Amino acid sequence: MSEPALLELKGVGRTYTSGGTPLTVLTDVNLAIRSGEFVAIMGASGSGKSTLMNIVGCLDKPSSGAYSVRGVDVASLGGDALAALRRDTFGFIFQRYNLMSDLNAVENAEVPAVYRGLAKPERQAHATELLRALGLDDRLRHFPSQLSGGQQQRVSIARALMNGGPVILADEPTGALDSQGGKEVMAILEKLHGEGHTIILVTHDSDIAACARRIVRIADGRITSDLEQGTPEGQGAPDRGGGKEAGPDGSAVLGEALRMALRSLAHNRLRTALTMLGIIIGVASVVALMAIGNGAKQDVIERIQAMGTDLLTVMRGPPNVRASSASVTSFLPEDLPFVAHVPGVAMAVPETNLSSLLRFGDEDLTVTVVGTGEDFPSVHDWPPQAGVFFSAEHVRRYAQVVTLGQTVAKVLFPEGTDPLGQYVLIGNAPFLVIGVLSSKGLTPRGDDMDNAVWLPYTTAGARVFGQRFFNNFVVRVQPGADMSAVQTELHSLLVKRHRKEDFNIRNMADTIATANATQDTLTYLLAAIAVISLVVGGIGVMNIMLVSVTERTREIGIRMAIGARGFDVLFQFLTEAVMVCFIGGLVGVAVGIGGGLSTSAIAGWRVIFTAAPIVIAFGCAFLTGIVFGYLPARKAARLDPIEALARD
Ligand code: ADP
Ligand code: MG
Repeated sequence: MSEPALLELKGVGRTYTSGGTPLTVLTDVNLAIRSGEFVAIMGASGSGKSTLMNIVGCLDKPSSGAYSVRGVDVASLGGDALAALRRDTFGFIFQRYNLMSDLNAVENAEVPAVYRGLAKPERQAHATELLRALGLDDRLRHFPSQLSGGQQQRVSIARALMNGGPVILADEPTGALDSQGGKEVMAILEKLHGEGHTIILVTHDSDIAACARRIVRIADGRITSDLEQGTPEGQGAPDRGGGKEAGPDGSAVLGEALRMALRSLAHNRLRTALTMLGIIIGVASVVALMAIGNGAKQDVIERIQAMGTDLLTVMRGPPNVRASSASVTSFLPEDLPFVAHVPGVAMAVPETNLSSLLRFGDEDLTVTVVGTGEDFPSVHDWPPQAGVFFSAEHVRRYAQVVTLGQTVAKVLFPEGTDPLGQYVLIGNAPFLVIGVLSSKGLTPRGDDMDNAVWLPYTTAGARVFGQRFFNNFVVRVQPGADMSAVQTELHSLLVKRHRKEDFNIRNMADTIATANATQDTLTYLLAAIAVISLVVGGIGVMNIMLVSVTERTREIGIRMAIGARGFDVLFQFLTEAVMVCFIGGLVGVAVGIGGGLSTSAIAGWRVIFTAAPIVIAFGCAFLTGIVFGYLPARKAARLDPIEALARD
């Protein structure tokens, strides 16, 4: 024993503390194994063989004593260093094979190389080569369920050899096989020993143990005998000086994580689809609702702009005092020339609106009666379509003439009847129709502006409203004039004239800003609802990922035993969650755009898609994946490999 031991246990004990009373499973185990040895560990069931193997394979740590690999105490190594040791130094062969059921033979054998960062083609080539050498040439693409026990065990041997680890740990590798399968496996192990591998084999079959050069017997957690057999040992093991921590390179890990995530998602199609549905609904509603909100906003703004952006409206009633306007009677015809002569003002008209009944023949129609001045069409850019608007002369003479809006003309004078020259009744007074205005559409609040008629303010005041004062003045400023300067001037002159501020002035910019704010509030409300549904979707993702981690605990244990670091496992599950959200996000964007477009086609609403909501919704979905996937992924990464492996 002059040669330094490859593996050395000194006074190792292992006590399980789970379940109240501590249970001592190994006591004072001293064992040194040199490179190239073939050791069989024998003992009754429950004597502590597997516990010992787990410690040797760095899946478990001793409770007392020390275990060192190549002279390095494993107690001093962190999780990643231990994972690297498992990955590069040891190859595990389990009694129950522990293959991954949704990977085929080649893919199963490849897994340890994934964690070493070997590129896919090299991995595949090496796995194929190993499987061929083990006589599985015609079973490369078979899944574990399509393989016999012996074939599965050979796949697991190929996996153990994948990273060229010098030490093979086989815990009852023939335990689940018939005698023929058992013989084949032993022949392979002997061959590997011949090639220089260090082999540690657990068995309770003395025939199988006879293959080994050294037999260690264990009873009740203590070594009872340690005998070398006659045959010479294998020569100089191909120890590649493992234990390198050289991690896998990023792209290989990402590629593999994506592949595994896709596979696992494809495996549970319905579940994946349902999980995604939450994300899809969330993203689609953000995209569609924002587009509808934007469309509505644009509609409102355009309607306001259609009314003219260079208008000032002087409304009666002091600013910020509601319901007191009724008592203000100071907007008089005498104010009109005064307002019109304020510097910067191009034109001014009074406007008083009242809802009233209009009659023609047997037809009654409720319309807005507007008492205004002859400049109304110029102030509002709203020319007559037929006939004329009334003139200054009409105003002066209290003429009983009326100009109709499009809606009124269409309803009262169906196709073929010319409204011009007809008389309509407003109140009880007859009015001669002298013109029909062109169509203007809806007000910002959605009222029909064409359902109105216009009378000279003089006639309207005397015959319809019974009041001499006006409700509003509408002022058009001169082209190029500074709106706010004109507004300030008008304000101060009018205060002087009325000796009090019994009016307030609105400009279109204010109106647009107000409408914008209202629409934005609505849009944010919609967005908030959409974000809530995205969060609900995210919780769905987290829920399903937690289920997935629980379901795949054993798989996680296997992956850790063959070299996955905690990070690799975390990354794998995180990738899966992010992928669900990524695909859900893409589909959601498509559904949102489709939904928005069909809403606009069916309901006739205007929708406007902008990049921001789409990017934000998609980004939120992606973030949701990371945020809600992290907890389950961390749970997976923190699993104890031994406990995970023991899970069914
Ligand atoms: P063997 O492989 O020789 O059959 P094991 O090493 O698996 O025996 O188990 C040795 C003893 O340790 C058994 O009595 C078993 O019940 C106990 N044991 C194994 N694993 C645990 C554990 N995680 N917690 C508590 N006791 C355990
Ligand atoms: Mg066991």
